[in-house]
Amino acid sequence: MITDLLARHAEEHPDRTFVVTDGAEWSFGAVDAAARRFGAMLQARGVAPGDHVALIAGNSAGFLVAWFGINLAGAVAVTVNIQLVGDGLAYVVAQSEAKLIVADRAFLSGQGAVGQGAFHGIPLIELAADTDLMAGSDGAELRPVRLPPLAPATMMYTSGTTGLPKGVVNSHAAYEAAGAEIVAALGFSPQDRCMVVLPLFHANPQMYAVMSALQVGYALVLREKFSATSFFADARRFRATCFTYVGTILSILVARHDEDRDHALRFCTGGGAPEKVWREVEQRFGVKVRELYGMTEIGGFVSLNTEGATRIGSCGRLRPDMDVRIVDAEDEELPADAQGEIVVRPRKPGVILSGYWRQPDKMVEASRNLWFHTGDRGHIDADGYLHFHGRIKELIRRGGEMVSPVEVETVLRKMPGVADCAVVGIDDAVLGQEIKVLVVPDAAPLAPADVLAFLDGRVPSFMIPRYVEFAASVPKTETEKVQRHKIAYVDARVHD
Ligand code: ATP
Ligand code: MG
Repeated sequence: MITDLLARHAEEHPDRTFVVTDGAEWSFGAVDAAARRFGAMLQARGVAPGDHVALIAGNSAGFLVAWFGINLAGAVAVTVNIQLVGDGLAYVVAQSEAKLIVADRAFLSGQGAVGQGAFHGIPLIELAADTDLMAGSDGAELRPVRLPPLAPATMMYTSGTTGLPKGVVNSHAAYEAAGAEIVAALGFSPQDRCMVVLPLFHANPQMYAVMSALQVGYALVLREKFSATSFFADARRFRATCFTYVGTILSILVARHDEDRDHALRFCTGGGAPEKVWREVEQRFGVKVRELYGMTEIGGFVSLNTEGATRIGSCGRLRPDMDVRIVDAEDEELPADAQGEIVVRPRKPGVILSGYWRQPDKMVEASRNLWFHTGDRGHIDADGYLHFHGRIKELIRRGGEMVSPVEVETVLRKMPGVADCAVVGIDDAVLGQEIKVLVVPDAAPLAPADVLAFLDGRVPSFMIPRYVEFAASVPKTETEKVQRHKIAYVDARVHD
């Protein structure tokens, strides 16, 4: 169980720092004790092994105390996106079949639910402030629960980039494997301090930061949210040595900061760094980018760039405890350099998701021929580096040609004056689909002709968009993925 790792550190070095927040430092012993009290409280409220308990909270020591407390009671922590509102929130809360909701005050006040005993008809408890959790007296004793490694630890919803989010159940074994593999690949030490600027309800910080900290016994610096302005000041103040990212974070840092090397940050890990940004981060800040390919379903990452094995623009070499292949539509393996679907098979049980909650059909569909089908397109080059080319469903079929939106976007991002862009397919009576590009200009306005002229000669002619539209931003999910379905229409007023 994940909590065995915590208990081990609490026993071996109880006073070593585990969590650093604005207000306090928590030792391994303190987090472990608070989690035990929390687990006992849940048991007293009737929470039994296998129950789902929804956790809706911002980044705080309390988030971790509640997560581990839920697991100590043998229950499954459903970590819910705190940004969800209205129907999206109602869907997740109901779909998860949570028996109890634990939410922090900031979330509850946003929902007008402070002091209420229920939320969407489900019993609710307010997560106490960190200071209260730390000071809590030992009330009821935790009744220890032993679970097999393949028992579910968490349920997390996918980003919902392609439709309704899916509840992904990950086992204790999946978490431990993700932590162990990332440690083996990146080489953390007990002196490391990982700054967590992404929300803890998401797979990225859970798998890469929390689990590596629990493997190695190093400290997590929790920030409530990412702030471009205070990023390096925080890194200095808290002596952070690494952080986890999504591509946008790196893009914003590069846009907002000139050279800054006055910090102890050695590397960052995550997915979605554009090549230009990747190089800038390394040159200006002296921080190595450890780009990876992963997804919620795979308990973290599938491939990762490491020291001595980095290819800028790629997602790195394959994780050793997984088999990864590129296959065609008939599930035949493709040779090096050929593009196809990325499929994955773990070498040990439990490493890949235990299933989609209440959607067994989706699991059956994804696990054809015993390989997990990611729905992503990529290739593995002759040296074993995995390259990501977008989602198969997002490929544009224009006449007889297949166009990868990511390919066009990668080229267009290099155009001076382009801050961001997104490419989508638009239904077309003649060609089946046509290409539309949404462009976010930097400062000065751009004309459609400039965009087309830049692409001319840089991509094949069948990849040149038919429609160019400008906007102030590209619609994205909470995890910064382009929501293509939101831009896949053509405004007749713009294109007459
Ligand atoms: P949903 O499944 O609900 O549509 P989602 O797939 O966006 O949402 P996540 O599990 O958060 O939810 O994201 C995983 C996806 O992110 C992968 O399937 C892939 O499409 C994309 N991805 C993973 N690694 C990278 C990377 N290095 N660069 C760009 N995109 C990536
Ligand atoms: Mg997905």
